[in-house]
Amino acid sequence: MKIKRNDTIKVLAGKDRGKTGKVLRVFPEQEKIVVEGVNVLAKHVRPRKKGEQGQKVYFPARMAISNIMLVCPSCAKPTRVGYQVSHNEGGRTHKERTCKKCKTAFA
Ligand SMILES: [Zn+2]
Repeated sequence: MKIKRNDTIKVLAGKDRGKTGKVLRVFPEQEKIVVEGVNVLAKHVRPRKKGEQGQKVYFPARMAISNIMLVCPSCAKPTRVGYQVSHNEGGRTHKERTCKKCKTAFA
């Protein structure tokens, strides 16, 4: 997954096109994410007890990852994500994500 929790993303398509928000949840097997304030749906809750009112509960629904772009934490532009493999002292390799625009690596 190129997108992780707490990333900032920009919406490219759909009713929330142009919005940016923070990623709250990631569903890698569905390639979907939930973003704060984006794709907000209303759920209508019926009154449970007498005298209680039904209400609308708003919540951000999951959306396809293909419709969003990562906003680079370094250059603040929407960008594609690249990968680079780096080696640390123990000879261990680890993969970092990079911004295709400014080439900055981030976790
Ligand atoms: Zn960048």
